[in-house]
Amino acid sequence: MLYASERRAVVAACQHLSRERLVVGTAGNVSIRLGEHVVISPSGVDYEQLGPGDVGVHDLTGAVVEAELAPSSELPLHLAVYAASEHTAIVHTHSVASTALSVVVDEVPLSHYYSALFGGAVRVAPYATFGSDDLAGHVVAALADRTAALMENHGAVLVGSDLGKVLDRVAYLEYVCEVQLRILATGRPAKLLSEAEIERVRVGLSGYGQVSRG
Ligand SMILES: [Zn+2]
Repeated sequence: MLYASERRAVVAACQHLSRERLVVGTAGNVSIRLGEHVVISPSGVDYEQLGPGDVGVHDLTGAVVEAELAPSSELPLHLAVYAASEHTAIVHTHSVASTALSVVVDEVPLSHYYSALFGGAVRVAPYATFGSDDLAGHVVAALADRTAALMENHGAVLVGSDLGKVLDRVAYLEYVCEVQLRILATGRPAKLLSEAEIERVRVGLSGYGQVSRG
């Protein structure tokens, strides 16, 4: 079996998303890029039943390299992100706060310095039907110079060079979105951070092996 360890990592990531209630049912998907190949979670399999053999390998055109099951319906989105960037891991969630916030803002305001984890203010990719090339295009544009985007009326997507680190950042994005929803609920004007401060934090965080020092 090609890429057995990467397939196991995709299974573990899907089960993490499910157990942390960051997806509902079989929603969400995870992939890793290895050169010309993409290891991606399958469509419609209960994550608790998912095994490494259910995770398929496709090439960058979407053609099957080694796969027992149909790939995630968001394969076009994953392929588009890989074609447009140097990223090698993608996690797509249907987490509650990210989804709710995607419906009411076009960009996540700089309310918390954790925005620096994602390269700046997280953008919201305009809505398009799941699995569509239009959605893939919107997400690629929203991810420019960022490692996360919200997907309007849908969920969130996070990208990076290491699946474990991308998965760790899911909780931080969900936290930032939950905080923003509570800020909006107060109806009060919000005190926002400057882009210069976010950049200062980004540089500071990049020197540490962990995401938070304070
Ligand atoms: Zn989705």
